[in-house]
Amino acid sequence: MKNRKLLMIPGPIEFEPKVLQALGAPTTSHVAPNFIESFGNCIQLMRKVWLTSTGQPFIVAGTGTFAMDMSAANLIEPNDHVLVISTGYFGERFAEIAKRYGANVTILESEVGNVVALDEIEKALAAKKYKLLTITHVDTSTGVLVNPKPIAELAKKYNTLSILDGVCSVAGEEIQQEEWGIDVVLTASQKAVGVPPGLALLVVSKKALDVFKNRKTPVGNYYADFNNWLPIMHAYENRQPSYFGTPPVNLIAALEVSLQQIVTEGMENRFLRHKKIAVAFREAMIALGLKLLPVHKNLSANTLTAVYFPENIAGSAFLANTGKNDVILAGGLLPSHKTQYFRVGHMGSVNNNDIIATIAAIESSLFACDHPFEMGIGLKTALKILNN
Ligand code: PMP
Repeated sequence: MKNRKLLMIPGPIEFEPKVLQALGAPTTSHVAPNFIESFGNCIQLMRKVWLTSTGQPFIVAGTGTFAMDMSAANLIEPNDHVLVISTGYFGERFAEIAKRYGANVTILESEVGNVVALDEIEKALAAKKYKLLTITHVDTSTGVLVNPKPIAELAKKYNTLSILDGVCSVAGEEIQQEEWGIDVVLTASQKAVGVPPGLALLVVSKKALDVFKNRKTPVGNYYADFNNWLPIMHAYENRQPSYFGTPPVNLIAALEVSLQQIVTEGMENRFLRHKKIAVAFREAMIALGLKLLPVHKNLSANTLTAVYFPENIAGSAFLANTGKNDVILAGGLLPSHKTQYFRVGHMGSVNNNDIIATIAAIESSLFACDHPFEMGIGLKTALKILNN
């Protein structure tokens, strides 16, 4: 296809043909036996992808922001204390959402490109009783990866619920929800889960559901209320028809295909594939003399990379040139640094070919912008890693 573009932004991503075929199949009734079976399968497959045997999945029409909103609406009551651990734009968003439900929010912010130190988190937890804390696993604005495991352990130690915003990580970065004791892991369909935008996906621990059931005040958001959705999830899992709000039938059919593909690949293999491609891309950028937004390679996500433009280059010209080479990249998102960097998504069905084409397009843009560099060094670096 001559006009085909390679979409390498951090969501929506490129989708598998079979997923898109499912999306384009004739829409059935939401209570048709085939759809009930698909929905039930999705619920069971989500536990395998989230790596929990006891969590309660929710599949609801909405975006990642709605998944954040749903977790907050159900678990926060007015005047609850909430600790937001922020590594960028989406941490700030969680703080705003929590405030809407009447929470007293304390926000621990990292410097740009860094993470919040564990002892700072422990100091905050020891100082005050927090109902819950939020972690952004990969902040898509900075490409910083947070290790949620020790934070979830701290949350448990201080009897605080933990919510992981995994919008840019679920099915790409390693998450062991049950073993790591994370109470809510939420995402959206359009990233590493590999389905076009439109689904909010959450898995909620038994402990968090017990906290929800003991609420003293009603949930202040009708559409998000777990009370409306729990019977629906239970019904579909038991292969029974049910209705609260019309489910996005085609998106759920596509989700079944994608989750099945993910489980067939195997979670361990999938995490390793993401890691290898991410390392190859990062090392290629470094070999080209470019600087990453994360202050240390160990803090760089495996689902996307944020890279500073060289100082002498206009970002808009650089991105226009990658576009001319049919590779679509994203600009910056963090308001304070927006024009200084670009972002490359490498998650979901990404393969070696995609990343090689992307590095070639970046080299081509550096050349077009008269930036001095050794042509081919990025590709050579990446190929060595990918073929190892
Ligand atoms: N959290 C993170 C980490 C994200 O990357 C995004 C989307 N880029 C969101 C939340 C919000 O998701 P959506 O755009 O689907 O509402």
